[in-house]
Amino acid sequence: MNPVFSDLPVTVFETMSRLARKHQAINLGQGFPDDPGPDDVREVAADALRNGYNQYPPMMGLPSLREAIAAHYGRHQGLDLDPETEVMVTSGATEALAGAIFALIEPGDEVVLFEPMYDAYLPLVRRAGGVPRFVTLTPPHFGIDDEALSAAFSEKTRLVILNNPLNPSATAFAEADLARLAGYCRRFDAVALCDEVWEHVIFDGARHRPLMALPGMRERTIKIGSAGKIFSLTGWKVGLVMAPRPLMRVLSRAHQFLTFTTPPNLQEAVAYGLAKDLSYFTDMRAGLARSRNRLASGLSDLGFTVLPSAATYFLNIDLGAGADDVAFCEALVREHGVAAIPVSAFYESGSVKNLVRFCFAKTDETLDTALARLPRCT
Ligand code: PMP
Ligand code: GLN
Repeated sequence: MNPVFSDLPVTVFETMSRLARKHQAINLGQGFPDDPGPDDVREVAADALRNGYNQYPPMMGLPSLREAIAAHYGRHQGLDLDPETEVMVTSGATEALAGAIFALIEPGDEVVLFEPMYDAYLPLVRRAGGVPRFVTLTPPHFGIDDEALSAAFSEKTRLVILNNPLNPSATAFAEADLARLAGYCRRFDAVALCDEVWEHVIFDGARHRPLMALPGMRERTIKIGSAGKIFSLTGWKVGLVMAPRPLMRVLSRAHQFLTFTTPPNLQEAVAYGLAKDLSYFTDMRAGLARSRNRLASGLSDLGFTVLPSAATYFLNIDLGAGADDVAFCEALVREHGVAAIPVSAFYESGSVKNLVRFCFAKTDETLDTALARLPRCT
């Protein structure tokens, strides 16, 4: 057999979680919560499984879930979606991203990406033959620089991939940045692929603003959510996809050939969960904000510079100029038994190497044990 080559990289989450297992470390790297998820949602899934929801559901998703998605986003974000033609269920946000990228990009098309970027985007874009054009965002605000944005767009721009709120920076884009981006999408007739899986995890009274709701964006935005994030059930992999009808028609073709369907018992439970009243979402945010504050103050007490975390269940420390975040994380997991994520993994340009991301969606005990293991910053 010929040697098999692939330019697909190994994800930083796999690398760090493997190291965490090897060193029996506390894993504050890969983002998954200690919280087992709402009992009632898991009960609905178990009942559905026992009661025979086990064969292929409709390709676009169970009608009950598609209706629940349209109702949920109407209630929480003021979107007006037709559950029949503008909503689809995928096996996680990851499948939705892959499907959209493969369905929409022709070799040579340009794709605008904002770094730091979630690690799945770039390998998928390259595999589809897309040409990445980067806009670099820098700490601590990670705002969009107009000159960089203008330089990234051209007549060849087909797609813009925006993650808002942004993992790993733990920030949400300002309204002015979104408006400017929307302006470029309209001017260059580009499609916006908007990964909004962190839309409900946003703190301190801020509200999520979907790009789809901006003027002229309704007809050109694909919005992606994830039940894994909404219900702290990351292993479920139920993706929520919204797009105008012509785009959805194309996305559904890709979905047919990727997974075709998503486990129906999980869909039934997510449909139930999405109808939860506002208190579920405010309680979730309040609990996570408490954990964020606990980890942030513990890290500050150890002498680390902690960047603000306005959204997501991550926070970053800044190691300062000249730091090597990869070496820092390797030493942390080996010598101190705590896994974290070097943020340089999300920068293609190599321009930021001084940030380390920690996940705080953990019990107080886990956070305190991790803090007790960490070295003082010297
Ligand atoms: N996009 C972003 C920005 C994420 O942080 C994650 C997971 N943490 C995903 C996509 C993947 O979501 P899912 O597990 O639903 O595939
Ligand atoms: N999205 C999670 C994170 O940012 C992990 C996802 C994964 O393991 N691929 O940590």
